[in-house]
Amino acid sequence: MTGRSPSGESAPPTVLKFGGTSVEDAAAFERVAEIVRAERRARPVVVVSAMSGVTDALLASVDAASAADLEPQLERHRLVARGLLDAAAAAGFETELEGAREEIGRLLESVFQAGSTLPRLRDEVVSYGERLSSSLLAGVLAARDLPASWVDARRCIVTNDVAGRAEPDFPETCARARAQLSPLLAAGRIPVLGGFIGASAGGVTTTLGRGGSDYSAALLGAALDAEEIQIWTDVSGVLTADPRVVRNAYTIPTLSYAEASELAYFGAKVLHPKSIQPALVRGIPVRIVNSRAPQDGGTVVAAEAELWPGTVKSIAHKTGITVLQITSARMLGAYGFLRALFEVFDRHRMPVDVVTTSEVSLSLTVEDGAALPAVVAELETLGEVRVEPRRAIICVVGEGLRTTPGIAARVFETIRDINVSLISQGASRVNLTFVVDEGQAREAVTRLHAALLEGTAVERADRRTVGRGKRSRSRRPVVRQSDRPTAVELTRRLIDIPSVSGDEEAVARFLGGQLEQLGYGVEYLESAPGRPGLFASTDAAPRIVFCTHLDTVPPFFASSEDDEFVYGRGACDAKGIIAAQIAAAHRLRAEGIRELALLFVVDEERGSIGARAANGHPAARQCRWLVVGEPTENKLATGSKGSLRVLLRTDGTGGHSAYPERGRSAIHTLLDVLEDVRVIAWPVAPEFGETTCNIGIIAGGAGANVIAPDARAELHIRLVTDAAPVRALLEGAVRGRARIEYLSATPPVRLTAVPGFDTCVVGFTTDVPHLSNWGAPLLVGPGSIHDAHTAGERIAKADLERGVELYVQLARTLHADAVATEVRA
Ligand code: ADP
Ligand code: ASP
Ligand code: MG
Repeated sequence: MTGRSPSGESAPPTVLKFGGTSVEDAAAFERVAEIVRAERRARPVVVVSAMSGVTDALLASVDAASAADLEPQLERHRLVARGLLDAAAAAGFETELEGAREEIGRLLESVFQAGSTLPRLRDEVVSYGERLSSSLLAGVLAARDLPASWVDARRCIVTNDVAGRAEPDFPETCARARAQLSPLLAAGRIPVLGGFIGASAGGVTTTLGRGGSDYSAALLGAALDAEEIQIWTDVSGVLTADPRVVRNAYTIPTLSYAEASELAYFGAKVLHPKSIQPALVRGIPVRIVNSRAPQDGGTVVAAEAELWPGTVKSIAHKTGITVLQITSARMLGAYGFLRALFEVFDRHRMPVDVVTTSEVSLSLTVEDGAALPAVVAELETLGEVRVEPRRAIICVVGEGLRTTPGIAARVFETIRDINVSLISQGASRVNLTFVVDEGQAREAVTRLHAALLEGTAVERADRRTVGRGKRSRSRRPVVRQSDRPTAVELTRRLIDIPSVSGDEEAVARFLGGQLEQLGYGVEYLESAPGRPGLFASTDAAPRIVFCTHLDTVPPFFASSEDDEFVYGRGACDAKGIIAAQIAAAHRLRAEGIRELALLFVVDEERGSIGARAANGHPAARQCRWLVVGEPTENKLATGSKGSLRVLLRTDGTGGHSAYPERGRSAIHTLLDVLEDVRVIAWPVAPEFGETTCNIGIIAGGAGANVIAPDARAELHIRLVTDAAPVRALLEGAVRGRARIEYLSATPPVRLTAVPGFDTCVVGFTTDVPHLSNWGAPLLVGPGSIHDAHTAGERIAKADLERGVELYVQLARTLHADAVATEVRA
């Protein structure tokens, strides 16, 4: 294969959207470039908003029909260009900026002449925000050796011609976006487009409504069938409430599309309300992340999301709402009345958020706006209209609301002294929505957050007790047993997040979220770009650390189960083990053993990059016992064999296969060598057993009718001694006929035995040798190594439960020992 990328041309891209604050100045542009670089392998398509404040300034300039106040905004672009582009590129961008200034001036002049604004002129002016930021970003990426290509978003996003809030024509957008972007992606380029803007079929510039860059990203993601849509913003994901109102708001690790949709619709500004639909249609996950803190876990929005113990996940609110109550004698059963009513809103393109009805009246909410008086006047022809301005909508969201009774009672009890109207539960039934006076919205949101979302974390309860230096016996565990996934459930959820070595991030972020909910402090360990490991600790020093790996061997296959087993990639190696360790740690903490932590690393199946990185962690020195999980059939391994990976290469002289005597076949030589290797009498050691040698790969040759010019074999030898005697034996057998490369060598390891537990010796290698700073290693876990790496990988449910029990008992024993030693000392 020549010159084709191994991932193939059809590997789906990832859309990365950067909001205005993510490109506010030169430093922000630099952060964006680093994020794009880190995502390079994901075939990024970059969508960018105008630099923060620029859209507002452009809109103000249209209203004032004057460009006077735009100069500082243009200067901000200039500063970035001068700071980050080379002289020639900066000069080129300044020419573009100059052109934009002239064109905006010309457009504003025609606004001035007309004495009123044509909506399409407004869109044309405001589009410069994204046109300039995207061109600048493409330049910055190119200056950093990233193969960026600027693409005019108006050639991709096709809309109707409703200025200011144009509706996209999705099929047409799909076709155009693919035609524009696929060739660039295939050529390894990184397309960069402005968000928010599009063009009508007739080529007139349009915009998608304020905050519309999220929508652009989602539309392009759906058009290209992206792997993921990433929304990079100034907060670490969707939070439990608007952080400007609730200081204690925290990140929600996962949301369902329905939950995210409701939140966005009812005021969580972090996502544009329309941005969920295109992702949902194509089942593309949307990840919301912080461009100022890329290492923070954000929020993943996908079809399924975890249920939270308190059932409520977030509280959104939206101010600037007017309630209209329309009363009419014709209301009773009058279909025509309702239709006439909604036609009024339709004509004025005024969205209605919440609707409730009674026998004689209908109440609904709309956003304040210039069109309101005209709407009210028309409604008055249909009945009596009461207008209640300065209201706010509050929306409590969580999938759990579908099934949990009593939430509404709790909600209204919490704000019983606040006047509530228009209570409704959306069709998706994941929200409870109601209206309060605008002046009371902050108070209501703050109180609801405190009542519904601040009490639920075990962590807080734990912190409080630790703070007082004693454990309160009356404390009821806040996360009830029945609310947590069982080990089997968690195993399946972990299996279903693919994490073949190299691709561990999603499972790490998911687990991080789970562990945070269970009250751990979670730290992501940067082992390699986009491959975070995870360290979860309590506030006590970690004496006993449960550890295993996040990665699996390929290929991924999803989970399934029957009465006896859970199946799926990683079932026994090592996702079942992760679940068992988490369950055990949870039980131990409930018993009062707090000196526990969990360490999950990447890359165990390949080169142990994760374990090596974790070995430098400052907590390592505090750890006395490292309980490493691998499938040992719940037996404590007293030793694990070492490993020596070897590459043998032979050379030949090519030639026509019809005349073998004229050449020398590298394959024949290799086969001779391997035959001798197979009969080597390898060392045997009493505590570890026999050395074994697997010839895992043989390859070579040029064609069936060619004398093979080269050949190679890869061996994996399991060591029971040092590598030295084995190497000597191997070199003796090869006798110079092949070149030998030693790819890696790990000596056999003696592990810690604890009286009272069944023991075994294992033939496979683990991360243990690379975690030498983490105290005495133990190796044990449910599942059988004979099921690991197979096409039918599985773990017996009973084994999984026994594994949890075993980890609990082992930690209790070790803890008692630690306490005894500390008392002695
Ligand atoms: P961008 O410029 O990146 O598009 P936005 O300002 O549109 O960013 O959205 C991010 C902002 O949304 C946050 O800074 C925050 O103030 C606000 N916000 C409101 N509700 C929420 C919420 N529930 N979670 C996160 N952010 C929220
Ligand atoms: N720049 C546009 C706005 O400020 C679009 C966006 O940022 O998403 O509304
Ligand atoms: Mg936004």
